[in-house]
Amino acid sequence: MDRKRKRNVGNKYIILLVALICFIACKEEVEKPVIKEELAVVEEPEEILEFGFNLNDYIVKRDTIRRGDSFGVILERNKVGYPKIFHIAEKAKDTFDIRRLQIGKPYTLLCSKDSLELPKCFIYQPTMEEYVVINFHDSIHAYTSRKPIKYIEKTATGVITNNISETLEEQGLSPRLAYKMADEIYAWTIDFRRLQKGDRFKVIYTDKYIDDTIYTGVHNIKAAFFEHNNEPFYAFEFMTDSTKGIIDYFNEEAKNLRRAFLKAPVKFKRISSRYNLKRRIAVYGYKVRPHKGTDFAADIGTPIMATANGTVTESARRGGNGNYVKIRHNATYETQYLHMSKRKAKVGQFVKQGDVIGWVGMTGNTGGPHVCYRFWVNGKQVDPFKQKLPEAKPISDSLKVKYLEFIKPLKYQLDNIFFKPEIEEEEPEQTIITQANS
Ligand SMILES: [Zn+2]
Repeated sequence: MDRKRKRNVGNKYIILLVALICFIACKEEVEKPVIKEELAVVEEPEEILEFGFNLNDYIVKRDTIRRGDSFGVILERNKVGYPKIFHIAEKAKDTFDIRRLQIGKPYTLLCSKDSLELPKCFIYQPTMEEYVVINFHDSIHAYTSRKPIKYIEKTATGVITNNISETLEEQGLSPRLAYKMADEIYAWTIDFRRLQKGDRFKVIYTDKYIDDTIYTGVHNIKAAFFEHNNEPFYAFEFMTDSTKGIIDYFNEEAKNLRRAFLKAPVKFKRISSRYNLKRRIAVYGYKVRPHKGTDFAADIGTPIMATANGTVTESARRGGNGNYVKIRHNATYETQYLHMSKRKAKVGQFVKQGDVIGWVGMTGNTGGPHVCYRFWVNGKQVDPFKQKLPEAKPISDSLKVKYLEFIKPLKYQLDNIFFKPEIEEEEPEQTIITQANS
């Protein structure tokens, strides 16, 4: 009997214990979310980092340098006294000359987070990437730094219906992609004024961002594929000289896409008259007046560039040519540039491709501002657009192996970008309007 009671008591204890454990466990389960909520409340506000500071620690005042502003004027306006301003300027001068502030450039003041709002730090941004910090919180120290840059790789495809700019614009892509393809990468291999409907392209390029947020445009094209008249043209960016930073585009067989000659001696050009041996002109009574040059119309003062490396053999003002410069490039090639407003080349001078040798004008026999570009092969004037121009510096044999390895993954990537399936135009739904004759 006694034993039985004991067991009963024991059982009661066990039941109680289980109930207690259950109670605690259940209670914990209930309480858990409460704890979580409390943690969320305590959590610190998110850091806003810029210029290496947590902006939450300050009252941030942003402005741009205005006419009449100086370092002193700005600080004085923000309740800093002149003795202190002189002291700061003196201490900072080895890093940054405060007189170099330019109108229109942004600056930021980090001020104390109290009712006084006293400036503790002056940050000036001479460029989008660069900034100067003059910190006078405790001790005075100044330094220059750069904002973090990020390059984001992107791809794009397009099919030409009219011209490349339109195709890019329709997709909201940067016009810089067109410029880079037409004037830098394929300037020698594809005539972008003669694209065909259905020509198409794929590009792998990078966009540049400052501080993760500020978009500054297309940085570079790493690889491109252009199908023109059903013919494929690959292009891969490759650095051939890392010390000089020389970058060129080569095709899948390591052939340089650039030629020894620029296509034109001026940028932003319009060809106003092509090489034509049978040209007839009204003012000459429609007699044949062969035009052995190519005229590029451009505004007066547009820089004229040497289209290839060479030595200046003539620089003079003479008759119908007006101000002109002639360059010998090698035993085979010579070029000449007429009607300049001003020359910038001396006989005997060595010029490099792209060097400015004069400016567009109207000297000599001309009806409007243009540069008449003449091209000689073995002493005979020819049409440069009909020439197979010599390849620019070919890739060296040792680099070629490296190049072909380098482009393998890029080419694979390019080949696996697919053109968006063309949206088939649906037949517009026919709405039949029946008119009730009354
Ligand atoms: Zn001409």
